[in-house]
Amino acid sequence: MAKKATQNEKKRRRWQARAKARQAGGQTGKPPVRFALMAKPMGPACNLRCRYCFYLEKEALFSDGESRRMSDEVLEAYIRKYIASQPSGPVQFNWQGGEPMLIGLDFYRKSIELQRQYADGKVIRNTLQTNGILLDDEWGRFLAKGNWLVGLSLDGPREIHNEHRFDTHGEGSFDAVMSGLAVLRKHRVEFNVLASVTPGSAERPLDVYKFFKDAGVKFVQFMPIVERLPDHAAKELGLQLAVGVRAGERLKTVDMTPWSVRPKAYGEFLCRIFDEWLRHDVGSFAVMNFEWALANYMGRPAGVCQWMPVCGRSPIIEHNGDIYACDHYVYPEHRLGNILTDNLQEMVQSTKQCAFGQAKLDALPDYCRQCPVGPVCWGECPKRRFRQTPDGQSGLNYLCAGYKRFFEHSGPYLKAIAQQLGHRRRKLRSERR
Ligand code: SF4
Ligand code: SF4
Repeated sequence: MAKKATQNEKKRRRWQARAKARQAGGQTGKPPVRFALMAKPMGPACNLRCRYCFYLEKEALFSDGESRRMSDEVLEAYIRKYIASQPSGPVQFNWQGGEPMLIGLDFYRKSIELQRQYADGKVIRNTLQTNGILLDDEWGRFLAKGNWLVGLSLDGPREIHNEHRFDTHGEGSFDAVMSGLAVLRKHRVEFNVLASVTPGSAERPLDVYKFFKDAGVKFVQFMPIVERLPDHAAKELGLQLAVGVRAGERLKTVDMTPWSVRPKAYGEFLCRIFDEWLRHDVGSFAVMNFEWALANYMGRPAGVCQWMPVCGRSPIIEHNGDIYACDHYVYPEHRLGNILTDNLQEMVQSTKQCAFGQAKLDALPDYCRQCPVGPVCWGECPKRRFRQTPDGQSGLNYLCAGYKRFFEHSGPYLKAIAQQLGHRRRKLRSERR
C-alpha cells in the first residue's frame, strides 16, 4: 500500500513538472522532451587560430558591427526558459565557443545567480569546453567551488598539439594549455580532454595515449578532423569550409583539407589505443569513444549523438539568442528561432527539427542498414556522409572504413564487457530484493 502511494506521488510530481514546463515553455500540444541546449556566449570568437577550427569561419555569418557577446537580456531568457523547458532535472548548461572564457568570470557569476533564481528545485550542472589558456587561480577556485566539469582541448604531446593549434601570432599554444591543465589539477577541478585526431597524430596513437596518462588525465575523447574544402554553397555564404550535404545529394568531387584524417588511419589509431587500454587501463582510464560504443552494446543511449540512430536533441544557442539545429549546422537554413521570441519546446519539437533528427536514420544507405556494425555506428554524423557506397548509393560516411575496422576489432571485447556488467548488475539487483 505504502509502495503504491509513493509511486502515485512520484507520478503526480512528474506530471506536475511537465505541466509547469508546458506553461513556461508554451503550448506545444506534446509532452515536453529532454534536450541539451549548448551555449556559445561569445559566438565564434576565439583567442586561438587553430588551423582546423570550423567555428572561426562562422564570423562570416554575423554582421561586422554586431557584438559577439551574449547580452544580459539573452542570458536571462536562456537560463529561465531552458530550465523551465526541461521536464525534470538535472539541467546541464554546456558553455562553449569559440572560446567561452573570453566573456569573463563575471558573466558566469551572473549565470550561477540566475540559475539559482530559476532552478525551481531542479539540480543544475555546468560544463565548460575551453582551450584553457585563460585559466588562472581565480578561475580554478570558481570552477572547483561550483563543481564544474571542464573539457580541455589538447591534442597530445607538444609537437602534435603545436602542429595545428596556434595563438594569434602563429605560435604553438601547447605551453599555455599545459599551464591551464596545471590550474585544473591544482584546484581539483573535474576535467576531461578533447583531442582532435589529424593525419599527424593518427600516426602516433600510443605516444598520444601515453602522453595523456602521464599528464594526469583520466578521461579523454578523440575527435576526428574531417573537413571538406568549400563547395558552391559554402562560397556563397562566404565560408572557407564546405557545408553539409543534403540527404541523397551526390557530390561530383570531394576535396578534403590536408589536415583531415584518412578513414583507415583513424580506424587504426582507435584500434591501437583500444588494445593498450584493454591490456592495462580498463576501469582506471576512460576513453569516451570506447564508453559510447560499450553503452550501445549494453542497449543504452550511446551518450554521443553521432552513434545514436536519430539526432536533433542537441540544439545550440548563439550569442545573439539565435537557436540552430546543431553545433555542426550553424547555417541560415537550420536556424530554428530566437530565445527572446520563440518557445524552446516548440522549436525542438518543430516539424523542421524533427525532420532534421529523423533524416539521420531515414537517409542511411542500404550498405549501412546491412552492415554488421550498423547498430553501433548508425552511419555516424550526417555532416560527414558525403561518400558513395561500393554500389553507388550516396550518403556513406567519409570515415566508414575506419569505423568498420574499429568496431569489428573492438566489438567482441566490448560485447564481453557489456555482458559481464549486465550480469553483475542483475546479481546486485536480485541481492537487494
Ligand atoms: S548532425 Fe551530427 S553532430 Fe549534429 S546532432 Fe546529428 S549526429 Fe550530432
Ligand atoms: S561502418 Fe560504414 S557501413 Fe557500417 S554503419 Fe558505419 S558508415 Fe555505415
